[in-house]
Amino acid sequence: MSEGNDGLIRFKNLKISSVADVIEKMGEKKFRATQIMKWVYQKRVDSFELMNNMPKVLRQKLSEKFSLKKMELVSTMESRSRDAVKFGFLLHESSHIVESVLLIDRNRRTACLSSQLGCGLGCVFCETGKMGLIRNLAQDEIIGQLIGINDFLEKRGDKSVTNIVFMGMGEALSNFENFRSALDIIMNEDCFNIGGRRITVSTAGVIPSIERLMNEDLNIGLAISLNAFSDKQRSQIMPVNNKYPIARLIEIAKRYFDKTGRRVTFEYVLIEGETDTDEAVNALSNLLGGFPCKINVIPVNPGKSSGFKSPAEGRLETFANKLHQRGLSATLRKSRGKDIYGACGQLSSRESCVRQD
Ligand code: SF4
Repeated sequence: MSEGNDGLIRFKNLKISSVADVIEKMGEKKFRATQIMKWVYQKRVDSFELMNNMPKVLRQKLSEKFSLKKMELVSTMESRSRDAVKFGFLLHESSHIVESVLLIDRNRRTACLSSQLGCGLGCVFCETGKMGLIRNLAQDEIIGQLIGINDFLEKRGDKSVTNIVFMGMGEALSNFENFRSALDIIMNEDCFNIGGRRITVSTAGVIPSIERLMNEDLNIGLAISLNAFSDKQRSQIMPVNNKYPIARLIEIAKRYFDKTGRRVTFEYVLIEGETDTDEAVNALSNLLGGFPCKINVIPVNPGKSSGFKSPAEGRLETFANKLHQRGLSATLRKSRGKDIYGACGQLSSRESCVRQD
């Protein structure tokens, strides 16, 4: 369990299944655990002293053992269209900043969370990939982003986050344990109470972790970054393809659908002259025809350093229409937050932040 420089245990790193035991071991009744979790994750207090429905002596004991310190919000940047906000949070006892994005769409408030600092998978179109993997985020660093975004929304008099996408910095399925235990907190009714249908994890295709997820009956959405129509091409832009090639990805996607009943989304980044050709349409139709899935067509976002060109708007529609004509369900994704480098592939991050329909 992580201890900070103050010698205190970071409470938000406790697995949800262990909170009641921890409280009981302190000589308290188990029901106090529920009260504490509501204070921490729903009211988002940063001091046990504020938990005024609990005995003073318990608050004192908790303060001596645990810390509720929040990650410091060091930057916010809002898009001109006011439908995206990018946040920078300073990690605990670190000089590193992790980025998250809030997407605002009518009644939906979608938090795009990061799961790693950097990423080791090295997709060439992705700014995060260029950082390499610095380290996995701890459970409380994943949850801390959500707490910070809800604090921000509350200050604006807005409603809390309604939807979650794990599409910020890093590959969540490569940080499976912390991602999984953060999910428990996100979904728990005494904490954030966000159901599986409003959560999506995006992956470059880490098959063993997809398999684990599939067997956990969480009913969360799965989005696979496909981005190419042949192994040769995909391996060039996504080296993870050498380990988990397209045929295996599609096979696991089909099993995921069979097991969960949730249609898998394939994210497909359009790069001019590379992935937007008629050959691509034919190949995608061969690969995905007859499988009830969705294809999200996304223009590549020219990062600060990438040399990729995004196809003209009309070309995106033409590409999606051609997929439709082949019987595939394709949607065009509006790439919000471009001017704040908070759009797909720009977070110093990954290619997604997708709204879920
Ligand atoms: S696209 Fe995702 S998996 Fe690929 S390098 Fe970026 S963060 Fe990692």
